[in-house]
Amino acid sequence: MTADSGEKSAVPVLVPMPAPGPYSYGVPAGTTIAPGAIVAVPLGPRLVPGVVWDGPAGKVDAKKLRAIEHVFDCPPLDAAMRRFIDWLADYTLSPPGLVARMALRVPAAFEPEPAIDGIVWTGGKPEKLTGPRARVLDMAEGGVAWTKSGLAKAAGVSATVVDGLMAQGLFDTVAIPPPPVVPLPDPALGRTPLTSDQEAAAATLRDAVGKGGFSVSLIDGVTGSGKTEVYFEAIAEALRQGKQALVLMPEIALTHAFLDRFHDRFGARPAEWHSDLSPRQREKTWRQTAEGRVRVVAGARSALFLPFAELGLIVIDEEHDQAFKQEERVFYNARDMGVVRAKIGGFPVVLASATPSVETRVNADAGRYRRISLPTRFADAALPDLKAVDMRRAPPARGGSLSPVTLNAVRETLAKGEQSLLFLNRRGYAPLTLCRSCGHRFACPDCDSWLVEHRFRGRLVCHRCGHNEERPEACPHCGAVGELAACGPGVERLAEEALGHFPEARIIVLSSDIAGGAKRLRLELEAIAKGEADIVIGTQLVAKGHNFPSMTLVAVVDADMGLNNGDPRASERTFQLLHQVTGRAGRTGKKSLGLIQTWQPDHPVMRALVSGDMESFYAREIAERERAHLPPFGRLAAVIVTANSRIEAEGHARALRRAAPETADIDVLGPAEAPIAVIRGEHRFRLLIHGERRADMQGFLRAMIASGPKPRGSIRVSVDIDPQSFV
Ligand code: ADP
Ligand code: ZN
Repeated sequence: MTADSGEKSAVPVLVPMPAPGPYSYGVPAGTTIAPGAIVAVPLGPRLVPGVVWDGPAGKVDAKKLRAIEHVFDCPPLDAAMRRFIDWLADYTLSPPGLVARMALRVPAAFEPEPAIDGIVWTGGKPEKLTGPRARVLDMAEGGVAWTKSGLAKAAGVSATVVDGLMAQGLFDTVAIPPPPVVPLPDPALGRTPLTSDQEAAAATLRDAVGKGGFSVSLIDGVTGSGKTEVYFEAIAEALRQGKQALVLMPEIALTHAFLDRFHDRFGARPAEWHSDLSPRQREKTWRQTAEGRVRVVAGARSALFLPFAELGLIVIDEEHDQAFKQEERVFYNARDMGVVRAKIGGFPVVLASATPSVETRVNADAGRYRRISLPTRFADAALPDLKAVDMRRAPPARGGSLSPVTLNAVRETLAKGEQSLLFLNRRGYAPLTLCRSCGHRFACPDCDSWLVEHRFRGRLVCHRCGHNEERPEACPHCGAVGELAACGPGVERLAEEALGHFPEARIIVLSSDIAGGAKRLRLELEAIAKGEADIVIGTQLVAKGHNFPSMTLVAVVDADMGLNNGDPRASERTFQLLHQVTGRAGRTGKKSLGLIQTWQPDHPVMRALVSGDMESFYAREIAERERAHLPPFGRLAAVIVTANSRIEAEGHARALRRAAPETADIDVLGPAEAPIAVIRGEHRFRLLIHGERRADMQGFLRAMIASGPKPRGSIRVSVDIDPQSFV
């Protein structure tokens, strides 16, 4: 582009960089470019993608104004999406460019997908009608466009036969539009007859979607009560209204079983969006979502940033799940931001969970959210009978983790030919290795964490940063040989223990570091569902969303594990996880049992699980939060300062604290060294900001950061609004 003289018009363009706002760019003479257009602009020596933003461009000296280089042939980001990006940036204190970056992640999709070369029979006859030629023309009848190779294949002939016919001018070439990533879903197709409770719930949702406008509905129902069936009806209604729908799931729950069920209901799968997609699938899905060719997306949290053309419904399944929180770069909670996106877009959002978050329950109790309850499991599927195993009274054998009570239950389950799940939320063989001779403990050189032994791989691994080393024969500290002891259980060790007791049983171990990745995992899950395992040993990977028909025993090996970590949500999380895990049992009407091995059977979480009295658990949790002014009755934000040295990190955190404004309704706690004081060689300090419900947290944080020192050198400051993690 050449800079010409005279008045040039300029527009703001948001580029995917951590800049505080859009930059101004010139518009080529004689053109107008509307907000939302996706463009390429020069930035320093590079050309980067950007989005034309709203409002007037900032003033730039005409001589310095650089021009937009290219306008992509791409549907614009609509006004709702642009407002959403601004809103999220403002709320999370992130540069808007970094938020926009999440919507612009697939530059290859900014130009249309190339059409495919196709051929259509003109209807003319060949000079000589051989058998193969006749088969080709048979296939080509009816004016259908084929690819050359597709036609040859369908007719069962070699491509040269088609070439021969083409040489005689019997085919016109045409452009075939690129194939859809998924066929169109049909809302009328496989409607499941619903129970009366389900039907009432579905009718409420259909009504909300039909009327349009923003609303939040919580479907609150035990596992297996039909929440998925019910929200499918909301999606069907959105489709009938000509709207697109988005289903957000914790990544792990996005199983083939779910996709297949969706297919049964709608005759096509939803488009998927998660970290496992190939670049090609990613491009096609992004593009076709923007073009409105994809009608339903099921995805992990980042699907919230897809450029939907006509989004009219968001469903957030397992809304309580922590996986919705992103804790890097832009810290945001996709559950909360999904609600914001719906509000800005003016359409309904549906939250589903068997164990809603306390925040959502409070919103429902206060009438801000509509609460739809599904109190019973579908058909005769009874919830498992839950019992606490008091580990003080029935402790495991020395070196073991399984109580005799649990072992008996597994034995009985095996005898009936049914399946057991032993749940332990710890990967690997043992969380700590120490030398019996000198007491040396194996720690990560770069993190404040012990190395976890992975015996199948023969390695010691850091679960924070991935550092791993071979497990040595001799202690590196004192040189003693054969003195290394594995302390505490992981799933691999549990498998060893189970095998010792039940040598005949078919045992499958499942955790996220399974060799063979996502594909192998899927096969294992299918094998379990088909009853091809007697004992399943797994981490929380098996807790979510899966349907294992012959599973009638679930034993939680270390129910207390998540309780004593200083997290204000520890009770809530433990309750949610254990409820969900035990809910894997008894999905098909067989009598089933859930055993909870605990050293604290009187803990409110254990009592609530065993008694099944969820309401009093929630009431107690909610009262406790209200008393302590914790979310949602008060507000929290964390400021995390990291640096290469402890002194720098601490010094900067202290300086920020001193820079905090005086405000009656906000307190600053800390700085304190983070519970995980070092990750990847970065030292970490935390400040916790605690405000009243209506306090202006963002204003406070901005003022604090603005008047504090500029971070220099290796110092980094991250702000985490509404933190979920406190490590
Ligand atoms: P949730 O999402 O609450 O865990 P699902 O929707 O997954 O419950 O339903 C649990 C199981 O019961 C699934 O296998 C589902 O197909 C079946 N199911 C639920 N409702 C019905 C229904 N009305 N008709 C037939 N099957 C149903
Ligand atoms: Zn590490």
